[in-house]
Amino acid sequence: MSKPVRVRFAPSPTGPLHIGGVRTALFNYLFAKKHGGTFYLRVEDTDQNRFVPGAEQYIMEALEWLGIAPDETVGKNEKFGPYRQSERKPLYKQYADQLINSGWAYYAFDSAADLDQLRKNAEEEGKTFIYNHTVREHLDTSLTNSAEKVAERIANGEEYVIRFKTPVNETLQLKDIIRGDIKFDTNLLDDKVLFKSDGMPTYHLANIVDDHLMETSHVIRGEEWLPSLPLHELLYKAFGWEAPEFAHLPLILKPVGNGKLSKRDGDKLGFPVFPLDWNDPASGEKSSGYREKGFFPGAVVNFLSLLGWNDGTDQELFSLEELVAKFDLNRVHKAGAKFDPEKNKWFNQHYLKLQSDASLAEKFMPILTEKGIETNIDYVTKVVASVKERATFVTDLYELSDFFFVAPTSYDEKASKNWKEETPHLMQELISVLENIGDFTSVNIETIVKDWMTKNEIGMGKVMQPFRLSLVGALKGPHLFDIVEMIGKEETILRLQKAIATL
Ligand code: GLU
Repeated sequence: MSKPVRVRFAPSPTGPLHIGGVRTALFNYLFAKKHGGTFYLRVEDTDQNRFVPGAEQYIMEALEWLGIAPDETVGKNEKFGPYRQSERKPLYKQYADQLINSGWAYYAFDSAADLDQLRKNAEEEGKTFIYNHTVREHLDTSLTNSAEKVAERIANGEEYVIRFKTPVNETLQLKDIIRGDIKFDTNLLDDKVLFKSDGMPTYHLANIVDDHLMETSHVIRGEEWLPSLPLHELLYKAFGWEAPEFAHLPLILKPVGNGKLSKRDGDKLGFPVFPLDWNDPASGEKSSGYREKGFFPGAVVNFLSLLGWNDGTDQELFSLEELVAKFDLNRVHKAGAKFDPEKNKWFNQHYLKLQSDASLAEKFMPILTEKGIETNIDYVTKVVASVKERATFVTDLYELSDFFFVAPTSYDEKASKNWKEETPHLMQELISVLENIGDFTSVNIETIVKDWMTKNEIGMGKVMQPFRLSLVGALKGPHLFDIVEMIGKEETILRLQKAIATL
């Protein structure tokens, strides 16, 4: 690699960032960091009709949250700024002119109505109208008008577009880091619009000009842009610029069935496909995000990294640092990667276990406060330690641990069948045993209660199940004597008395 590595994420702020876009940003980030390069973010907002307020901030916030913020972007190390294409508008015209002057582009004056008519005519003949080398010499273009006439019409304010003059009968030999060599016949391309008389470039022109001016070394983007590759390579050639290297990432596929994972799949199937919650300002439609669903950013980064890449081993758990060290574009697959929401939860469960008890307790505290439970962080930290093994999300913690905070208000029906005739009497005796324990710690309580059972030849099941039912309301939860120690003697006895009275 000769040039310094500079890669970019170039989203159009037309809505919330789909998880596929996040994966593209992540792979760019990993590639940049791996090679000691720069990861920058350029906002591609030349299509003002599709502008959505809040979308740009959403993208920035999502990348920040995931820990993969760009090194350069709007308002941050603007070495090659501006980083918003709408603010680069005055810059593009000269490049469109350059292509006109060198014969790589031409003016076209057809109105929208003209083009509609041409499409209709073609349809009637059972054909598709394509604006290309077969028609450009016959239509209302600078190829069929004199230079003076063209200049006059433009001076008169007539609307036009500038189209790329695709070369005829050439086979392009293209290279893609992931897909290898690709051959492409130029006769299959249409003459794409590069520039419009409102002064705005289209995506293709702005993208190439900016990738060049911002010294992009590699273009890493989704497979949906592969059809644009021939035009982009031709544009570099037309400008006489060295093209960056290209890598087109595989599609992310639906969990079941075929096809690309769409924005709608998520909420339809009950999992987020966006990093953060999004309220669409126009439609009011809400889409849920990983952050608000309780995913840890590390877990999201980890499962996204495996959508189309692996390190060649069976390893699945990678920290961001490990990913940076191991990431290799040559190991990205061509085939689409199936999105597996269940697996994503598995990753989150793992990342939850990696959190310290104290930090989980801090996240759990607001949930408890909201439920009107008065407690303290030390107690909650202990609770978390005893149940976190079984949680996937912080929001699972309450269901797993409610009995640490409140007495049961009902008893599991099936478990209540173990409440026999002699049970109230046994529980009453258990209360007396507990009352006499001085050192009320889990191990000590367990030893004393078990001694009492052995001495009186009482079967384990006869005591332990009703005991648990009285404290928890069901036959679930961590080690019983840990619960007893945690809730304390007084509360344990109260709950036993309540069960005796109720069951
Ligand atoms: N603005 C394009 C997009 O929305 C960028 C495509 C590219 O990376 O070239 O994805």
